[in-house]
Amino acid sequence: ARERSARADRLESLGQLAGGVAHDFNNLLAIILNYADFLADEVTGDAADDLSRIRNAADRAKSLTGQLLLFAKREPTQVEIIDLNQVVTEADELLSRTIGENIRLVSRPGAGTMPVRANRGRLDQILLNLVINARDAMPDGGVVVVETDCVETDGIAFARLTVSDTGIGMTAEVRDRLFEPFFTTKPADRGTGLGLSTVYGIVGEANGHIGVDSAPGVGTTFRILLPSAAAPAGRRSDSPEQELAYGH
Ligand code: ADP
Repeated sequence: ARERSARADRLESLGQLAGGVAHDFNNLLAIILNYADFLADEVTGDAADDLSRIRNAADRAKSLTGQLLLFAKREPTQVEIIDLNQVVTEADELLSRTIGENIRLVSRPGAGTMPVRANRGRLDQILLNLVINARDAMPDGGVVVVETDCVETDGIAFARLTVSDTGIGMTAEVRDRLFEPFFTTKPADRGTGLGLSTVYGIVGEANGHIGVDSAPGVGTTFRILLPSAAAPAGRRSDSPEQELAYGH
């Protein structure tokens, strides 16, 4: 447990560092983009092409700093009680469009509702990151299954989100490092290494747990447990958390 918390501390301080750098970078990029826009009205020919390359690179850099800021949790988020099943159902179309034609998406939300306390955008982000990784792990096609169910560990009720793929899987070395910020095995124009560290941060913030099973050549399964926010029977009306949830 001590090892785990040292790891969490390290991720936390890396996050703060990244957030600070990203914030300053973002401001500088805004200046670059601003002046590039001014210049665009004044230059023509080859110079205009060069300028548009500068603009494109600055745009890409800006989207990267955006991801960094998200990872560093600089953006405040609103937590509410949301139904994990609904999130999965509603993400289905976006996810299908994301994965491309040679991959089959099987979405199996569990029965009923699975209330959890979280931010809607962040839950979408978890799903998207996991499914994009599944896609990238299956260049020759395959199946990605997204499912939810309810589980109980140590008397605590959790909603569980499982995302599994039939992709290339991971070696033990990759599995050990996959939640580290900037750790990626993908080429620089594809991977930032921030996807899973962001997921890890979001899950931790929601007092959840994340686990992974993976075997090279077989596939990978991510399991995320989020504490259930279902009110215990008989306490629905007087729970302050419920009031909070139905507030704003
Ligand atoms: P990125 O996707 O930008 O590389 P991530 O933090 O999302 O960053 O993932 C880190 C690394 O973990 C990936 O580069 C890849 O090596 C590995 N990985 C993540 N998900 C999977 C998966 N479903 N199958 C195989 N490897 C994976």
